[in-house]
Amino acid sequence: MSRTPPAVRFRDVGQRFQGADGRPVAALDGLSFEIGRHEFLAVLGPSGCGKSTLLRLIAGLIKPTAGQVEIFGRPVTEPRDEIGIVFQKPTLLPWFDVLGNVTFPMRHKHGRVTDAERARARELLALVGLADFAGRRPDELSGGMQQRVGIARALLHDPDILLMDEPFSALDALSRDEMSFELLRIWTERPKTVLFITHAIPEALLLADRVVVMSGRPGRVREILPVPLARPRSMATLSEPAFHDLARHIRGRLFSRPVAA
Ligand code: ADP
Ligand code: MG
Repeated sequence: MSRTPPAVRFRDVGQRFQGADGRPVAALDGLSFEIGRHEFLAVLGPSGCGKSTLLRLIAGLIKPTAGQVEIFGRPVTEPRDEIGIVFQKPTLLPWFDVLGNVTFPMRHKHGRVTDAERARARELLALVGLADFAGRRPDELSGGMQQRVGIARALLHDPDILLMDEPFSALDALSRDEMSFELLRIWTERPKTVLFITHAIPEALLLADRVVVMSGRPGRVREILPVPLARPRSMATLSEPAFHDLARHIRGRLFSRPVAA
């Protein structure tokens, strides 16, 4: 009997790039971790430690220079349909309305959008709180609303895995908290495996089941920390003593030098 493979598995993954001066740049080194099915995993690390690179590896947009990335037990060799991606900027097309933006990937892939896809897009817009905005243009929406459109678009093909690269970092603090709770609600209603990249400690703790704390470049796993805070999480979670203890612990890990082996 074989164990069900995890949604995502990194096996000793390394990534080098050719730097501008022609010398290799080590972005990631010896990365090993797993993301369980329907787990919410946050990846936290300083700028430039390879977080976006890690996401692009899972998405199949680049190939690792060492080790292997697997999705449901199969090596990633190319972009796959079971993945949805939300980037920091939602990059909406200004000449399409909100509905047109959510369905754009289908139009792009198949040259047309079916009635069923359009109906599903409307359902997802309702899920992200934009039921009344389907006919609006992106520039009529706030930053938070545009990010919601980006989330609906990523969910349209019902991916098993949702990759989010600092999706709320361009928002103001209040919208950011609001979007975090929205995301938790959506994740509860539509369970998904989520990889959420951030450099904000409170955001990681509020959202995740576990937090992968990375070192500076080359990015390595410094610690994988379970977040045993009760769900559903709310504003009250932010003032729990356990929340502060975890935040203090992570801060210590992020700003300490690696311990010599
Ligand atoms: P983060 O998202 O954590 O800020 P990135 O994954 O974007 O970090 O980048 C990690 C490191 O790899 C950086 O030093 C970056 O300059 C380098 N890097 C990323 N992509 C490329 C590339 N395509 N070519 C060369 N260097 C790259
Ligand atoms: Mg990045």
